[in-house]
Amino acid sequence: MPYEIEKRLIPGIVNIPLKEIRYVIAHESGNSKNVGPDALEREVSYMSNNWRKAFTSHWVGDGGRIIQIAPVNRLQYGCGSKGNPLSYAQVELARTSDKEQFKKDYAAYIWLLRKLAKDAGIPVKLDYGGKGVKTHKWISDNLGGTDHTDPYSYLAAMGISAAQFRKDIENGIEEEDDDIMKFSNETTKNTVRDHIAQMVEKKYVDKSWLTKFDEGTMTNGDYDALCLIENQKKAAQK
Ligand SMILES: [Zn+2]
Repeated sequence: MPYEIEKRLIPGIVNIPLKEIRYVIAHESGNSKNVGPDALEREVSYMSNNWRKAFTSHWVGDGGRIIQIAPVNRLQYGCGSKGNPLSYAQVELARTSDKEQFKKDYAAYIWLLRKLAKDAGIPVKLDYGGKGVKTHKWISDNLGGTDHTDPYSYLAAMGISAAQFRKDIENGIEEEDDDIMKFSNETTKNTVRDHIAQMVEKKYVDKSWLTKFDEGTMTNGDYDALCLIENQKKAAQK
């Protein structure tokens, strides 16, 4: 699922070239006092007002929203004097106490870290040697200049192990399946299947839709779109 990156660049922020592009950094806010519904907005506004102390290029939170507050490929103040000049982008994750919201935030976080690594032309790998996506902890352990250990403990508290995080960075997360068509019984399922088969037979829609239905990946949005096409074709025949 593509996400929208809302740009809210901090006016007057420093513009310092990197030494080299080696990393994209994964953070989390570490702010256990800011976990409410407005956590993302509060973090973004705090950082925007205090960027001289610390800032990153992106924030994620609020159920999968992404806000960019500083340019990529420019020095950010997020992971210490050793890591900053080598980091193309740095991504902060706002906390939440809501596990369901976390799932959406985490999916956007993974998507964004992967996208930024690809944009930067570095391996989509987590915390191995060499170039790639690095946690703030990896920078602390391997480069120094900082002593933070995020984002591991927050992720673990929300049910994501280090191994899972690594796997998700490397493979991405399966597209949100919230919108996949689900049926309470076989009869309704067959009714919908027959309907799609009929549309295919009348050549209103391509037969790949039936395959998609049989593979169990058809979304409610897909089906709505097919029904709309059917209505339009029928209307055109009159
Ligand atoms: Zn950090």
